[in-house]
Amino acid sequence: MTQKNSNEIGWSFNNSYVRLPELFYTRQNPTPVKSPKLRIVNEQLGKALGLNVQLLKSDDITNVFAGNEIPNGATPLAQAYAGHQFGHFTMLGDGRAILLGEQITPSDKRFDIQLKGSGRTPYSRGGDGRATLGPMLREYIISEAMHALGIPTTRSLAVVTTGESVQRETELPGAILTRVAASHLRVGTYQYVANWGTNEELQVLADYALNRHFPELETDENPYLSLLKGVIKRQAKLIAKWQLVGFIHGVMNTDNMTISGETIDYGPCAFMDEYDPATVFSSIDRQGRYAYSNQPGIGLWNLARFAETLLPLLHEDQDRAIKLAEDSLSNFKELYHSSWLTGMRGKLGIFNEEEQDEPLVEDLLRLMEKYRADYTNTFRALTFDNLENADLFASPEFKEWQERWQRRLDRQKESKARAHELMRNNNPALIPRNHRVEEAIEAAVDQGDYSVMDELLDALAKPYAHTPGQDKYTTPPPPSAQPYRTYCGT
Ligand code: AMP
Ligand code: MG
Repeated sequence: MTQKNSNEIGWSFNNSYVRLPELFYTRQNPTPVKSPKLRIVNEQLGKALGLNVQLLKSDDITNVFAGNEIPNGATPLAQAYAGHQFGHFTMLGDGRAILLGEQITPSDKRFDIQLKGSGRTPYSRGGDGRATLGPMLREYIISEAMHALGIPTTRSLAVVTTGESVQRETELPGAILTRVAASHLRVGTYQYVANWGTNEELQVLADYALNRHFPELETDENPYLSLLKGVIKRQAKLIAKWQLVGFIHGVMNTDNMTISGETIDYGPCAFMDEYDPATVFSSIDRQGRYAYSNQPGIGLWNLARFAETLLPLLHEDQDRAIKLAEDSLSNFKELYHSSWLTGMRGKLGIFNEEEQDEPLVEDLLRLMEKYRADYTNTFRALTFDNLENADLFASPEFKEWQERWQRRLDRQKESKARAHELMRNNNPALIPRNHRVEEAIEAAVDQGDYSVMDELLDALAKPYAHTPGQDKYTTPPPPSAQPYRTYCGT
């Protein structure tokens, strides 16, 4: 059923993906659900998209978020893609997501509007095409927190419950998340077309990414090489940002790595509390493939898979193509490292560059690991010179480090006040702490009480505010016998 009030709501679709070769997708409507109920909607994002804020809670738009009505101009489809999952290559595709279309915002930006959990598609394999409430609320909270932290990410517009139950280990309430993304192009999309499409189709897909995400590179002498370099650069910067806030993605399969450089797929991700480079939260990542300290290396591995798909476009001579790809990939380390080090300098209030900055950072991290210091709160304490309540700060090794750091700050021309300002802007007071996220989800799912989540979202929206009101959310979880565990595909 298409919707009459689409213009009033503010939908303004212009769907480029559906104009691409048919190999890339299957036209597919969402499967309607029994009794949709809006649980949360992102007014600011809705406004930025050009939607009528007055109508964001109307039944009309709830029915769209539920997949029960198709807005005028939408051309629902499921995207095909492949991917290396924990190193193994597989055919995948949107198994439980439908791309409604591309919304053109009042400032002429293009965003994918996707329903996640909206029913089966030809790519569902054995899955039911559905999602459950807890994980969709979790994606909403964490993706919005990432955005507020200044990290490129897909966004969350709304969560509706479906009034249907979904069978997992137990019966759980069904839900649908409306996800907003610069696009849903993944490394895995390229792997799919490189494997099952023609070179012409591959070129169409590469041209599409250039046009949508790197228009400034389209007229380069070798635009496909520029595309590769552009994606490498964005991903290097993105992963550096993850490391700087202690974010662990948890399932960095190639189908979960975007071409746009946005973080995507909030399944088993989580932020670390105590600093430990070996941290893994995901229940299925038994080898620690996607542990915190492995993220840059895995990023590079995924980008090598991306480069392989582009080889036929890089040069007609295969050896030359491989050489071009390898040279581009060899820049990743430096791009990542310089982004990371610049970020770390900011976290320590350092403006200029000195060779000894990296050992200074590394030594602090080593001490944080040794004394099991909370990652976020350590940098916060350094920012506000509030060095109490942690074993780390009482240790003689730290005192020594602190003197080195102070001498370093004294050597730069910027004032202490400016260094403090820089640190405030680089060290968030807040991250979505796992116990707080769990508490908010539990209240919502078990008691239908969304006030805990609303309050948490308000706090997470201003992570660099450093106001007393934030204190409640800055405490690490109480010590627990069991390590925190996260789950995929739920
Ligand atoms: P993910 O682990 O979320 O990256 O998902 C991997 C693949 O499994 C993707 O192709 C998803 O679309 C698919 N998938 C995950 N959950 C379901 C489900 N409940 N029904 C159908 N497909 C699913
Ligand atoms: Mg995925």
